[in-house]
Amino acid sequence: MTFNDLKIDPAILKALAKEKYAKPTPIQEQSIPAVLAGRDLLGCAQTGTGKTAAFAVPTIQLLSQQPHKPGTTRRIRSLILTPTRELALQIDENMKAYSQFTDIRCSAIVGGVSQRVQERALQQGADVIIATPGRLIDLINQKRIDLQYVQILVLDEADRMLDMGFIHDVKRIIAKMPVKKQTLFFSATMPPEISKLVKTLLVDPVKVEI
Ligand code: AMP
Repeated sequence: MTFNDLKIDPAILKALAKEKYAKPTPIQEQSIPAVLAGRDLLGCAQTGTGKTAAFAVPTIQLLSQQPHKPGTTRRIRSLILTPTRELALQIDENMKAYSQFTDIRCSAIVGGVSQRVQERALQQGADVIIATPGRLIDLINQKRIDLQYVQILVLDEADRMLDMGFIHDVKRIIAKMPVKKQTLFFSATMPPEISKLVKTLLVDPVKVEI
């Protein structure tokens, strides 16, 4: 199977070729068609399996099918939540690589860097935000970020967010988004608290296990 077989847009295929990705990994083969079809996804996969591109590539493709109109405000249409600053910056770097030949803009919102710099990036407009829960909650509390236009939510390493004590923040962030959205949920393990969240959040998800 090739990325072309997965019906990836030419602009993204070009970026994947530049990254020297010869063919999709198993999780990408299973996830990309389901996400492009608009389905919710429940993925049990570790880092190192190609999980990032499994959610990032179809997210970029779905968003670029509804291009941003010049002269209008760019809205946050996808939010990717991940437990650590390092993961967020890694995902941001990957998203920027995969979307480099598209009009999609992404921005990382993480602790440990100046909030002013991140606010400026937000003011310039982003389609996708990659965030850690703590810093995002600060911006929500200060009413500096609007999540009402989110269409695709990605929860990455949900079990680690639980372990790190972020579950309450995650639930508060989810409450700021529309109920009707596509959710891509990744967790290496399924403790009861995570199963409960999955049941409330996902609608008839496609299950992907690696
Ligand atoms: P991840 O599991 O998303 O952290 O990805 C692990 C590593 O595999 C990263 O360095 C990716 O750039 C790389 N990678 C992801 N998908 C592919 C692919 N289809 N072909 C080659 N490398 C890939």
